[in-house]
Amino acid sequence: MPYLRAMSYSASKKRYDSMQYNRCGHSGIKLPAISLGLWHNFGNADDPKKARKIIRSAFDSGVTHFDLANNYGPPPGEAEKVFGKILKENFRSYRDEIIISSKAGYYMWPGPYGEWGSKKYLVASLDQSLKRMGLDYVDIFYHHRPDPDTPMEETMTALDLIVRQGKALYVGVSSYTAEQTKRASGMLKQLGTPCLIHQPRYSMFERWVEDGLMDVLGHEGIGCIAFSPLAQGLLTDKYLKGIPVDSRVGRGLGNGAITNESISEAVISRVHRLNELAQQRGQSLAQMAIAWVLKDKRVTSVVTGVSSPAQLKDNIDSLKNTSFTKEELKSIEVILTS
Ligand code: NDP
Repeated sequence: MPYLRAMSYSASKKRYDSMQYNRCGHSGIKLPAISLGLWHNFGNADDPKKARKIIRSAFDSGVTHFDLANNYGPPPGEAEKVFGKILKENFRSYRDEIIISSKAGYYMWPGPYGEWGSKKYLVASLDQSLKRMGLDYVDIFYHHRPDPDTPMEETMTALDLIVRQGKALYVGVSSYTAEQTKRASGMLKQLGTPCLIHQPRYSMFERWVEDGLMDVLGHEGIGCIAFSPLAQGLLTDKYLKGIPVDSRVGRGLGNGAITNESISEAVISRVHRLNELAQQRGQSLAQMAIAWVLKDKRVTSVVTGVSSPAQLKDNIDSLKNTSFTKEELKSIEVILTS
């Protein structure tokens, strides 16, 4: 019976043998260099068996951190439900070995209290997330995006409150600018709930963090977990010969996923050249792209999304070679800026 098979999971005894764990800023927490994100591939149109396999193979390989948000799906909330079911059935006895994060900031329900950064929204949204996942607390709760209208003091006070209520152990922010991060960090330190981590988009194709944010994170002792390190799959070899129907672009997922327009001739020409360089290093392009993000020691982890356990393995194997020669870095700069 499929139900019984789902129940019979015992994690690999070798799960901590080869993963690298990095300290998250100036905190007591270490995160795996590779974390798993559930933005895509865990919705109601995805295969639940594959979703379970991905989570199990991640944990078996030492991936102890799973990144969620209230709105991941589709529909919004579905990824938390799917993950909660897998947790309940397979990971109940491993809860203390796992770091689970969720976020709130984007649209979740109608009316004035269903998005952005008010205390009303953040507290209610986390309560909903905990219910969907069947958890008493998350390890990290993020404010998902800066709110131009809510006073930052209110948002940070809400994050502090949530920790004091025992609903999250640590807090973080996502996509805050360098300046916003500095202000948020100052407020959180004063409240006694220091900002653990910042989650920005960072890849060879998206480098805004290099312009001030990484310095703020280093100075404030905040960890960094880079999202979309593969530019949603562009920084792999998958689009070199067209658009596979089962790819993120081919599936036409919408909701922020890359589309046909992202696959311009200029982009593909760069990807070809990067792919050749990766091959010279004895790596897949995905591996080189992840290694490149991890070369900055202020980056604690990269959070990658995968549509199969094989992709996850490929990405984890990037840790076998994370150093670059000066010449390689120069060649990458030339490709990225030409
Ligand atoms: P990636 O850049 O890692 O892209 C993931 C996609 O790339 C996969 O779905 C797969 O695409 C493809 N891929 C992954 N590994 C390989 C491989 N080895 N070879 C070939 N193709 C591969 O990250 P995501 O954009 O998925 O983001 C990762 C996570 O970051 C999210 O799940 C979420 O947790 C977080 N995130 C946070 C945001 C925020 O605002 N804080 C915003 C967006 C993401 P395919 O499906 O085509 O096979």
